[in-house]
Amino acid sequence: TEGRMPADCLFCRIAAGEIPATKVHEDDLVFAIRDINPQAPTHVLFVPRQAIATLNDLVAADAELIGRLVLAATAFAKSQQLADDGYRLVMNCNRHGGQTVFHLHLHLLGGRAMDWPPG
Ligand code: AMP
Repeated sequence: TEGRMPADCLFCRIAAGEIPATKVHEDDLVFAIRDINPQAPTHVLFVPRQAIATLNDLVAADAELIGRLVLAATAFAKSQQLADDGYRLVMNCNRHGGQTVFHLHLHLLGGRAMDWPPG
């Protein structure tokens, strides 16, 4: 998968400190940044340090990584007092999913009520 990442991958460059971002979480496997175009009062992107392009590229060996991605997001949501009211976790895949950055990431959206079905 890493071989298919674009050389100018945005989140790889943010991870490397080449592009500024507001980091709100960092651990050995995952970092999190504020979305530059927030769609809710809290909009944070949880990004694996390992560059995986899309959900379609996940393999069994990534199970712990994906678990850690979700746990980082739920811990952050609790730390921001979002847990009781609730929030949304979203991963967009390819064109129909609305994916625009091809380095896998998990959106945390919170701080307002959201509609279902999504647009
Ligand atoms: P997706 O459409 O699911 O691929 O999500 C990509 C997200 O990255 C969008 O919500 C963008 O607003 C966000 N984004 C794009 N550029 C940046 C940036 N430089 N810093 C933080 N977030 C960004």
